[in-house]
Amino acid sequence: MRCKNKNILVINAMTTQTPLVLDIKGNSLDDGPGIRSVIFFKGCPLSCVWCHNPESKKAGAEVAFDAGRCIDCGTCREVCPEQALSKSNPFYIDRDKCTLCFECVTTCPSGALEQVGKTMSINEILEKVMPDKPFFDASGGGVTLSGGEPTLFMDFSAGLLTALKGENIHTLIETCGLFEMERFSALLYPLLDTIYFDIKIIDPSAHKTFCGVPNDRVLANFATLFAQAQKDGKALLPRTPLIPGITDTEKNITDIAAFLKKLGVTQSALLAYNPLWHDKTDKIGASDPYKSDKAMTAFADNSVLEKSRKIFAAAGIAT
Ligand code: SF4
Ligand code: SF4
Repeated sequence: MRCKNKNILVINAMTTQTPLVLDIKGNSLDDGPGIRSVIFFKGCPLSCVWCHNPESKKAGAEVAFDAGRCIDCGTCREVCPEQALSKSNPFYIDRDKCTLCFECVTTCPSGALEQVGKTMSINEILEKVMPDKPFFDASGGGVTLSGGEPTLFMDFSAGLLTALKGENIHTLIETCGLFEMERFSALLYPLLDTIYFDIKIIDPSAHKTFCGVPNDRVLANFATLFAQAQKDGKALLPRTPLIPGITDTEKNITDIAAFLKKLGVTQSALLAYNPLWHDKTDKIGASDPYKSDKAMTAFADNSVLEKSRKIFAAAGIAT
């Protein structure tokens, strides 16, 4: 079986599952128009090496350890039934032994151990976001579904969007673009006011290397969705994160601009690089091959953004 079909089998297997919620962030000004609440789901079909939320990659729950908050009281080591915690472990937790009982999380007095990913019902999510409705209304904001990847949990996302629209709340999704288009069109598209769609890398082999999967379906989905959104007058914004030496190369930016221009796109977004994700990888015991990489550990130089903007502008695309 070819790899791309395998990816779709994985996506289809998850689409009816209930996601874990990583976080609900209120008062966001960065995830769509106005003041927004952002719901972060856990789980993504891509595995981008620079992921801003590395704790959102796996769909299952995890334990995070924040060494900066640990007071070394030893309580967690005493209560762990699996002897999975040790100061000699570079990440403190031996994740092969850990059975995710969360005893250590409940007993840690300093909040150094945290359960990452919790089940929440649609009603519980609504209860969290509804107090901010006056701010949404006053600012032209609303609720953003993010992740991870919200389309991975198509049925739950549809239920949540239905509930939000029932409250007359503006809805926006941030997607990596790897989903089954038929189900997206039937379940989510009608309930979304705005779609933010990531176009990261055009070269198929580089996309596979840095995002873990081929990009043919992502690009095809964008083309289909853009044509539909144009007809319906729905807002669809392609976004490209500028990752040093990976997505921000002149060739990749030129290729993305050409891809978008061919479809008739005139507005896009370029996202400046933010290296804060490195801090999160240690907490969940994830490998970080870029931890000592000079470019990947520094904030973006504005010249990179300006150079990319010029390339897009030359293609007639505002950013
Ligand atoms: S979650 Fe349970 S098994 Fe895992 S480290 Fe904590 S106490 Fe041990
Ligand atoms: S219980 Fe919390 S503060 Fe105490 S050693 Fe464990 S992680 Fe550190």
